[in-house]
Amino acid sequence: MEQHPITQAIRIRTEQTKEMEHSSPLYLTSSFTYEDAEEMRATFADQTDNNIYTRFSNPSVQEFIDRMVALEGAEAGFATASGMSAVFASFMALLKSGDHLLACNAIFGSTHTVITKYLPKYGIEYSYVDADKPEEWEAAIRPNTKMIYMETPTNPGLDIIDIELVANLAKKHNVILNVDNCFATPIGQRPIELGADLVVHSATKWLDGQGRVLGGVVVGNKDLIKDIYLFCRSTGPSMSPFNAWVLSRSLETLDVRMERHAKNALFIAKALENNNKISWLKYPELPGHPQYAIARKQMKSGGGIVCFELKGGLEAGRNFLNNLKMLTLTANLGDTRSIASHPASTTHAKLTEEERLAVNITPGLIRISVGLEHHDDILNDILQALEKC
Ligand SMILES: *Cc1c(COP(=O)(O)O)cnc(C)c1O
Repeated sequence: MEQHPITQAIRIRTEQTKEMEHSSPLYLTSSFTYEDAEEMRATFADQTDNNIYTRFSNPSVQEFIDRMVALEGAEAGFATASGMSAVFASFMALLKSGDHLLACNAIFGSTHTVITKYLPKYGIEYSYVDADKPEEWEAAIRPNTKMIYMETPTNPGLDIIDIELVANLAKKHNVILNVDNCFATPIGQRPIELGADLVVHSATKWLDGQGRVLGGVVVGNKDLIKDIYLFCRSTGPSMSPFNAWVLSRSLETLDVRMERHAKNALFIAKALENNNKISWLKYPELPGHPQYAIARKQMKSGGGIVCFELKGGLEAGRNFLNNLKMLTLTANLGDTRSIASHPASTTHAKLTEEERLAVNITPGLIRISVGLEHHDDILNDILQALEKC
């Protein structure tokens, strides 16, 4: 009987890492050796499973890929140095001049930069669909649309997009559906089961979950992954074996960590929902979430992010950050330690107010990445900072 993906994420070893050690050894090497000329010839002729060079493959990196493939229910995968290199490789390997990329408007900042600044340099067109207007997707598909790219829940506004609905449109129009599953993780949702062709991740976030290493991975349909692999093996954004080794250990606790992150997040969300300093609060598992029905349908858990709007706007946002005593102010998310951010005065401060509003970044928006500390300590710190807003 095939093991459950949670078990596979803990137990999978590659042929090479099945040694005597109970914990997988780290293959910190840039290249691999052969017994003789014949073995080397056969390896270079693709007639063996031998490794050649760590830019192409490495047992420690393969172990991480195999675990992610199991967790996402994919056919194959490739691991990259960062989430952005996974996103970029998935675009560059599969799109060509004259193609059109359709994306949801609320996406990670650097992904937005790649789409709007770099893809047009190579003749790749793009357009955006409002994340909370599902009826707009089909009309936005053009004859030259080759890929749909989406994030759900979105960052930082936590809108939920119906993956199955978009996947059905993608199939109907013969378009690749590529989903950034960073916020939910495969514990929260499995886009491939809902019809996605590719899933990309920033492993830097919840997958590591301890703020230690950068990493990225793309998994999905094996023919598409083959093209992405060939692109990466020549252009070189491969994951380092050390980071892969760290990340494989991280995956062994992903399920238990995400369960506690989500439990703490739901506790915080419920406790703050009716706070008099807050005009609205979003968490996918709260019935008040605007797309609660879609979240129930496609998500097994709501993840670790809670966001809310301070009635006092921009100034209240700054006060909130300044008065926190325990929560960390940092650009990252998905860590054992709870993190607070105020996009309007930090990550999105360079945009005009109008540009911010177009991607649902309101003046008093606070994003909390709920950590694994005791939920009372997280809540108490937020409450005392809210008092001063
Ligand atoms: C952080 C992030 C990325 C980029 O990942 P890096 O590892 O920082 O390159 C992509 N998508 C989402 C949703 C992210 O949060």
